[in-house]
Amino acid sequence: PSVPELEALQHADVARLLPVPTGESDKYRRGVLGIVAGSARYPGAAVLAVAGALRGGAGAVRYVGPAGDAVIARFPETLVHTGPPAKAGRVQAWVVGPGLGDEPGVRDAVASDVPVLIDADGLRGLDAAAVRARTAPTLLTPHAGEAAALLGIPREEVESARLTSVRELAARYGATVLLKGSTTLVASPDTSEPVRANATGTPWLATAGSGDVLSGLMGSLLAAGLTALDAGSVGAYVHGLAGRLAARGAPTSAEGVAASVPAAWRDIASGP
Ligand code: AMP
Ligand code: MG
Repeated sequence: PSVPELEALQHADVARLLPVPTGESDKYRRGVLGIVAGSARYPGAAVLAVAGALRGGAGAVRYVGPAGDAVIARFPETLVHTGPPAKAGRVQAWVVGPGLGDEPGVRDAVASDVPVLIDADGLRGLDAAAVRARTAPTLLTPHAGEAAALLGIPREEVESARLTSVRELAARYGATVLLKGSTTLVASPDTSEPVRANATGTPWLATAGSGDVLSGLMGSLLAAGLTALDAGSVGAYVHGLAGRLAARGAPTSAEGVAASVPAAWRDIASGP
Protein backbone atom coordinates (compact mmCIF):
# COMPACT_ATOMS: atom_id res chain seq x y z
CA PRO A 1 0.00 0.00 0.00
CA SER A 2 1.29 3.47 -0.78
CA VAL A 3 1.79 5.82 2.17
CA PRO A 4 0.39 9.34 2.04
CA GLU A 5 3.09 11.90 1.28
CA LEU A 6 1.82 14.32 3.96
CA GLU A 7 0.38 13.55 7.38
CA ALA A 8 -1.05 15.93 9.95
CA LEU A 9 -0.10 14.92 13.47
CA GLN A 10 -3.27 14.44 15.54
CA HIS A 11 -3.91 15.78 19.02
CA ALA A 12 -4.15 12.21 20.40
CA ASP A 13 -0.78 11.25 18.85
CA VAL A 14 0.87 14.27 20.45
CA ALA A 15 -0.75 13.52 23.83
CA ARG A 16 0.61 9.97 23.69
CA LEU A 17 4.12 11.16 22.83
CA LEU A 18 4.50 13.84 25.54
CA PRO A 19 7.02 12.58 28.11
CA VAL A 20 5.58 12.08 31.61
CA PRO A 21 7.85 11.47 34.62
CA THR A 22 7.16 8.36 36.69
CA GLY A 23 8.14 7.17 40.17
CA GLU A 24 11.38 5.83 38.70
CA SER A 25 12.32 9.17 37.13
CA ASP A 26 15.25 11.25 38.23
CA LYS A 27 16.63 14.33 36.54
CA TYR A 28 19.10 12.31 34.49
CA ARG A 29 16.49 9.89 33.23
CA ARG A 30 14.20 12.80 32.31
CA GLY A 31 16.99 13.97 30.03
CA VAL A 32 19.94 16.32 30.31
CA LEU A 33 20.01 18.75 27.41
CA GLY A 34 23.11 20.67 26.33
CA ILE A 35 22.59 24.03 24.62
CA VAL A 36 25.30 25.75 22.57
CA ALA A 37 23.85 29.15 21.72
CA GLY A 38 24.21 32.89 22.16
CA SER A 39 27.06 35.30 21.53
CA ALA A 40 28.12 38.74 22.72
CA ARG A 41 25.83 40.14 20.04
CA TYR A 42 22.87 37.80 20.66
CA PRO A 43 22.86 36.74 24.34
CA GLY A 44 19.05 36.70 24.35
CA ALA A 45 18.87 33.75 21.95
CA ALA A 46 20.61 31.65 24.61
CA VAL A 47 18.12 32.77 27.25
CA LEU A 48 15.14 31.96 25.01
CA ALA A 49 16.47 28.53 24.00
CA VAL A 50 16.96 27.71 27.70
CA ALA A 51 13.42 28.99 28.41
CA GLY A 52 11.99 26.65 25.76
CA ALA A 53 14.07 23.75 27.06
CA LEU A 54 12.99 24.18 30.69
CA ARG A 55 9.32 24.40 29.67
CA GLY A 56 9.90 21.33 27.46
CA GLY A 57 10.65 19.21 30.51
CA ALA A 58 14.41 18.59 30.46
CA GLY A 59 15.61 17.15 33.79
CA ALA A 60 18.56 19.55 33.56
CA VAL A 61 19.91 22.04 31.05
CA ARG A 62 23.63 22.59 30.50
CA TYR A 63 24.36 25.87 28.78
CA VAL A 64 27.68 26.22 26.95
CA GLY A 65 28.73 29.63 25.61
CA PRO A 66 29.46 33.26 26.41
CA ALA A 67 25.97 34.25 27.63
CA GLY A 68 26.10 32.34 30.91
CA ASP A 69 25.54 35.42 33.07
CA ALA A 70 22.39 36.40 31.17
CA VAL A 71 21.12 32.81 31.31
CA ILE A 72 21.74 32.45 35.05
CA ALA A 73 20.16 35.82 35.83
CA ARG A 74 16.93 34.59 34.28
CA PHE A 75 17.15 30.82 34.95
CA PRO A 76 19.33 30.02 37.99
CA GLU A 77 18.55 26.30 37.56
CA THR A 78 20.78 26.18 34.45
CA LEU A 79 24.21 24.52 34.66
CA VAL A 80 26.58 26.95 32.98
CA HIS A 81 29.82 25.98 31.28
CA THR A 82 32.53 27.80 29.39
CA GLY A 83 34.98 26.01 27.10
CA PRO A 84 34.15 23.46 24.43
CA PRO A 85 30.90 21.42 24.54
CA ALA A 86 32.91 18.18 24.61
CA LYS A 87 34.20 19.23 28.08
CA ALA A 88 30.80 20.18 29.51
CA GLY A 89 29.87 16.74 30.84
CA ARG A 90 27.41 14.12 29.72
CA VAL A 91 24.21 15.16 27.98
CA GLN A 92 21.48 13.14 26.28
CA ALA A 93 21.06 15.61 23.41
CA TRP A 94 22.50 18.87 22.09
CA VAL A 95 20.87 21.99 20.65
CA VAL A 96 23.35 24.10 18.74
CA GLY A 97 23.00 27.36 16.86
CA PRO A 98 20.49 29.97 18.13
CA GLY A 99 22.23 33.38 18.20
CA LEU A 100 25.60 31.61 17.97
CA GLY A 101 27.20 34.07 15.55
CA ASP A 102 30.76 32.92 14.94
CA GLU A 103 31.15 31.22 18.31
CA PRO A 104 32.55 27.67 18.07
CA GLY A 105 30.78 24.47 19.14
CA VAL A 106 28.97 23.16 16.09
CA ARG A 107 31.77 20.75 15.22
CA ASP A 108 31.85 19.27 18.76
CA ALA A 109 28.09 18.77 18.76
CA VAL A 110 28.11 17.18 15.31
CA ALA A 111 30.95 14.87 16.41
CA SER A 112 29.03 13.68 19.49
CA ASP A 113 27.25 10.33 19.71
CA VAL A 114 23.94 11.74 21.03
CA PRO A 115 21.01 13.35 19.14
CA VAL A 116 21.74 16.86 17.90
CA LEU A 117 19.40 19.65 16.82
CA ILE A 118 21.06 22.26 14.59
CA ASP A 119 19.34 25.62 14.08
CA ALA A 120 20.05 29.17 12.89
CA ASP A 121 23.77 30.09 12.82
CA GLY A 122 24.66 26.42 13.37
CA LEU A 123 23.32 25.73 9.88
CA ARG A 124 25.74 28.17 8.18
CA GLY A 125 28.35 26.25 6.20
CA LEU A 126 27.17 22.98 7.73
CA ASP A 127 29.34 20.03 6.62
CA ALA A 128 26.95 17.53 4.96
CA ALA A 129 29.48 14.68 5.04
CA ALA A 130 30.05 15.15 8.79
CA VAL A 131 26.29 15.17 9.43
CA ARG A 132 25.75 12.07 7.27
CA ALA A 133 28.52 10.27 9.19
CA ARG A 134 26.76 10.75 12.54
CA THR A 135 25.63 7.63 14.38
CA ALA A 136 22.87 9.34 16.41
CA PRO A 137 19.84 11.23 15.03
CA THR A 138 20.22 14.77 13.67
CA LEU A 139 17.40 17.33 13.43
CA LEU A 140 17.96 20.41 11.24
CA THR A 141 15.46 23.23 11.79
CA PRO A 142 15.79 25.91 9.07
CA HIS A 143 13.29 28.60 8.15
CA ALA A 144 12.85 29.14 4.40
CA GLY A 145 15.84 31.50 4.14
CA GLU A 146 18.15 29.10 5.94
CA ALA A 147 16.85 26.18 3.86
CA ALA A 148 17.54 28.16 0.68
CA ALA A 149 21.12 28.83 1.79
CA LEU A 150 21.65 25.12 2.54
CA LEU A 151 20.28 24.16 -0.89
CA GLY A 152 22.05 26.99 -2.72
CA ILE A 153 18.83 28.23 -4.33
CA PRO A 154 16.76 31.43 -3.96
CA ARG A 155 14.34 31.62 -1.06
CA GLU A 156 11.38 31.94 -3.46
CA GLU A 157 12.19 28.51 -4.87
CA VAL A 158 11.96 26.97 -1.40
CA GLU A 159 8.68 28.81 -0.74
CA SER A 160 7.15 27.55 -3.97
CA ALA A 161 8.30 23.94 -3.45
CA ARG A 162 8.37 23.40 0.30
CA LEU A 163 7.67 19.66 0.26
CA THR A 164 10.35 18.93 -2.34
CA SER A 165 12.81 21.20 -0.53
CA VAL A 166 12.40 19.54 2.87
CA ARG A 167 12.72 16.06 1.31
CA GLU A 168 15.80 17.12 -0.65
CA LEU A 169 17.50 18.48 2.50
CA ALA A 170 16.69 15.31 4.46
CA ALA A 171 18.25 13.23 1.67
CA ARG A 172 21.37 15.41 1.33
CA TYR A 173 22.15 15.50 5.04
CA GLY A 174 20.80 12.06 5.98
CA ALA A 175 18.97 13.95 8.73
CA THR A 176 15.45 14.78 9.86
CA VAL A 177 14.60 18.28 8.64
CA LEU A 178 11.98 20.65 10.04
CA LEU A 179 11.13 23.48 7.65
CA LYS A 180 9.49 26.33 9.57
CA GLY A 181 6.67 28.47 8.25
CA SER A 182 2.96 29.10 8.63
CA THR A 183 2.70 25.35 8.07
CA THR A 184 5.77 23.56 9.38
CA LEU A 185 6.95 20.42 7.58
CA VAL A 186 9.05 17.67 9.18
CA ALA A 187 10.75 15.11 6.94
CA SER A 188 12.64 12.01 7.98
CA PRO A 189 15.57 10.82 5.85
CA ASP A 190 13.59 7.55 5.71
CA THR A 191 11.40 8.22 2.68
CA SER A 192 8.90 5.55 3.72
CA GLU A 193 7.82 7.98 6.48
CA PRO A 194 5.25 10.56 5.35
CA VAL A 195 6.26 14.18 5.87
CA ARG A 196 4.51 15.54 8.98
CA ALA A 197 2.70 18.84 8.62
CA ASN A 198 1.85 21.11 11.53
CA ALA A 199 -0.50 24.07 11.37
CA THR A 200 -1.28 24.72 15.05
CA GLY A 201 0.64 28.01 14.89
CA THR A 202 -0.41 31.59 14.29
CA PRO A 203 1.17 34.47 12.35
CA TRP A 204 1.76 36.12 15.76
CA LEU A 205 4.64 33.62 16.04
CA ALA A 206 6.49 35.62 13.38
CA THR A 207 8.43 37.49 16.06
CA ALA A 208 12.13 37.58 16.96
CA GLY A 209 13.24 34.70 19.14
CA SER A 210 10.22 32.44 18.71
CA GLY A 211 12.37 29.97 16.75
CA ASP A 212 14.92 29.91 19.60
CA VAL A 213 12.17 28.88 22.04
CA LEU A 214 11.14 26.11 19.62
CA SER A 215 14.70 24.79 19.44
CA GLY A 216 15.00 24.48 23.20
CA LEU A 217 11.58 22.83 23.44
CA MET A 218 12.40 20.24 20.77
CA GLY A 219 15.82 19.67 22.33
CA SER A 220 14.17 18.61 25.60
CA LEU A 221 11.99 16.15 23.70
CA LEU A 222 15.08 14.69 22.01
CA ALA A 223 16.84 14.42 25.39
CA ALA A 224 13.76 12.59 26.75
CA GLY A 225 14.22 9.96 24.04
CA LEU A 226 11.75 10.93 21.32
CA THR A 227 12.89 10.23 17.76
CA ALA A 228 13.92 13.25 15.71
CA LEU A 229 10.69 12.98 13.68
CA ASP A 230 8.55 12.87 16.84
CA ALA A 231 10.55 15.56 18.67
CA GLY A 232 10.23 17.86 15.66
CA SER A 233 6.55 17.33 15.02
CA VAL A 234 5.45 17.25 18.67
CA GLY A 235 7.61 20.33 19.38
CA ALA A 236 6.07 22.22 16.47
CA TYR A 237 2.56 21.25 17.61
CA VAL A 238 3.10 22.38 21.22
CA HIS A 239 4.94 25.56 20.17
CA GLY A 240 2.18 26.49 17.72
CA LEU A 241 -0.51 26.01 20.34
CA ALA A 242 1.57 27.95 22.90
CA GLY A 243 1.81 30.79 20.38
CA ARG A 244 -1.96 30.79 19.97
CA LEU A 245 -2.56 30.81 23.74
CA ALA A 246 0.04 33.55 24.26
CA ALA A 247 -1.38 35.75 21.52
CA ARG A 248 -5.17 35.21 21.60
CA GLY A 249 -5.52 37.83 18.90
CA ALA A 250 -2.97 40.35 20.18
CA PRO A 251 0.81 40.65 19.76
CA THR A 252 2.97 38.39 21.89
CA SER A 253 6.74 37.99 22.29
CA ALA A 254 8.98 34.95 22.21
CA GLU A 255 9.09 35.10 26.00
CA GLY A 256 5.30 35.01 26.06
CA VAL A 257 5.33 31.94 23.82
CA ALA A 258 7.75 30.14 26.16
CA ALA A 259 5.63 31.08 29.18
CA SER A 260 2.55 29.59 27.47
CA VAL A 261 4.13 26.21 26.77
CA PRO A 262 2.88 24.71 30.08
CA ALA A 263 -0.72 25.77 29.30
CA ALA A 264 -0.47 24.26 25.80
CA TRP A 265 1.05 21.06 27.21
CA ARG A 266 -1.77 20.78 29.79
CA ASP A 267 -4.41 21.33 27.09
CA ILE A 268 -2.94 18.54 24.97
CA ALA A 269 -2.43 16.15 27.88
CA SER A 270 -6.00 16.62 29.13
CA GLY A 271 -7.58 15.40 25.89
CA PRO A 272 -9.00 16.76 22.62
P1 AMP B 1 12.43 31.63 13.35
O1 AMP B 1 12.25 32.02 11.92
O2 AMP B 1 13.57 30.72 13.57
O3 AMP B 1 12.44 32.80 14.30
O4 AMP B 1 11.15 30.79 13.77
C1 AMP B 1 9.89 31.38 13.68
C2 AMP B 1 8.82 30.48 14.28
O5 AMP B 1 7.56 31.11 14.09
C3 AMP B 1 8.71 29.12 13.62
O6 AMP B 1 8.23 28.18 14.55
C4 AMP B 1 7.66 29.37 12.53
O7 AMP B 1 7.00 28.18 12.13
C5 AMP B 1 6.73 30.34 13.23
N1 AMP B 1 6.08 31.23 12.25
C6 AMP B 1 6.68 32.22 11.55
N2 AMP B 1 5.78 32.83 10.74
C7 AMP B 1 4.61 32.19 10.92
C8 AMP B 1 3.28 32.33 10.36
N3 AMP B 1 3.02 33.28 9.44
N4 AMP B 1 2.32 31.49 10.80
C9 AMP B 1 2.58 30.56 11.73
N5 AMP B 1 3.80 30.38 12.30
C10 AMP B 1 4.80 31.17 11.90
MG1 MG C 1 15.59 31.20 13.91
